[in-house]
Amino acid sequence: MTAPNIETIVSLAKRRGFVFPSSEIYGGLGSAWDYGPLGVELCNNVKQAWWRWMVYERDDIEGLDSSIILNRLVWKYSGHEDTFNDLLVDCRKCKSRYRADKLYEEVGGSGTFSGSIPAGSKCPTCGESDWTDPRPFNTMLQTRLGATAEDDPSSVAYLRPETAQGIFVNFANVLTTSRRKLPFGVAQIGKSFRNEVTPGNFIFRTREFEQMEMEYFVKPGEAESAHQEWIDACYSWFTSLGISADNLRLYEQPKEELAHYAKRTVDIQYRFFPEREEPERQWDELMGIANRTDFDLRTHSKKPEDAEGKRLNPDSTEDLSYFDEVNKERFYPYVVEPAAGVNRTVLSVLMDAYSEKTNDKGETRVILKLHPALAPIKAAILPLAKNKPELVGMAKAIKRSLQPVLRAVYDDTGGIGKLYARQDEIGTPSCVTVDHQSLEDEAVTVRDRDTWEQERVKVADLQEYLLERLKE
Ligand code: ATP
Repeated sequence: MTAPNIETIVSLAKRRGFVFPSSEIYGGLGSAWDYGPLGVELCNNVKQAWWRWMVYERDDIEGLDSSIILNRLVWKYSGHEDTFNDLLVDCRKCKSRYRADKLYEEVGGSGTFSGSIPAGSKCPTCGESDWTDPRPFNTMLQTRLGATAEDDPSSVAYLRPETAQGIFVNFANVLTTSRRKLPFGVAQIGKSFRNEVTPGNFIFRTREFEQMEMEYFVKPGEAESAHQEWIDACYSWFTSLGISADNLRLYEQPKEELAHYAKRTVDIQYRFFPEREEPERQWDELMGIANRTDFDLRTHSKKPEDAEGKRLNPDSTEDLSYFDEVNKERFYPYVVEPAAGVNRTVLSVLMDAYSEKTNDKGETRVILKLHPALAPIKAAILPLAKNKPELVGMAKAIKRSLQPVLRAVYDDTGGIGKLYARQDEIGTPSCVTVDHQSLEDEAVTVRDRDTWEQERVKVADLQEYLLERLKE
């Protein structure tokens, strides 16, 4: 079972402290969200899982953390200033504004969006059919640096719309300091910003979000096979997080949809909208895996020239080409880029983990069957009676002994049934109950979240036992 819709997750997230509407006491801010005590743990666990898989468990990837605000020239030469646009259309009657490609899907346009809304399409807000022509809107979020005049154009800067460019402009730095040979990659996790026309669907589309991106540099002739390998590897990574293959699919971007730098892009889509009648509209992008060719390293390099011998990039001070010692040749590496969103990954794992179970009393309980590695809390230590100082003391001591190695909590604010239900709902894989018998036999009861089965475990073996279960 998965969540029937995003709304189910919105209410669970608010009720239990995963995600809150941002600036709520002032009426919120469009679709900005804050991650609460459990949400921050879940995000951190997703990022850690990605970093471990991407960087530590391979031999060919380095890490990087570049600035959010870069020299404006980066965005000029990357093409973002000219082309990082969404097409907008307005309904002349009710003034609602839409992203043209999304509106096209919503009004049931067939095939891929080619730049215009079919005549007669009705506005989803007012039902009329009176549209402006689509026009481009640059979605980079602008800011101004320093104490300069409001209208001084030289103070304009952008909050990065992708983390990738910070990697490209550091290509030579990483290459020389790490003494890498192709193929190798550079991974980065960080915030990105886009002035989205129509943010929404909870944390699916926001103006501030977090990305996990890796740029894999290869010889031009090896890009296609490397691309396919990364598509397969990323798909397997999501299933390794416990996401059901029934809710994942690959989507080959048609040529008209490709970004200006991409030769081929395959998205991994998740069934974010299972409630939608039309099967095709149930899916949306979780991550994109692009073959960016040599566009980025070439465009940021000082050397390439046009037919008249004029430098294409007169501002760059570096040539980002690569010298292959074996074949004694110099070229611009191709780039394969797996780019995932932290927030969309969090939303998909929450939706996929959602399930309900009925207990002996006929009460329906929510169980969040998160992969143990992602669960915000790994073990809850619960005394059977809170008015027995020996039990409380023993439970607290167990919690303290576990906390250096795993996230454990102590809770005595309810009867045991209620405490179990609370932990099930937030995805805690193990509840550890300290009872009267524990004082005699130095053992505790460990209850499993998914099966509700119980096992007696010696306190001395508890840490190892719990760590073992996290690997499942
Ligand atoms: P979309 O078509 O949904 O706008 P995109 O194709 O522009 O997404 P990419 O540029 O490929 O997205 O970015 C890589 C990943 O970053 C996306 O797959 C998604 O997980 C995440 N992402 C992009 N934009 C947003 C956003 N506004 N809010 C949350 N996550 C986002």
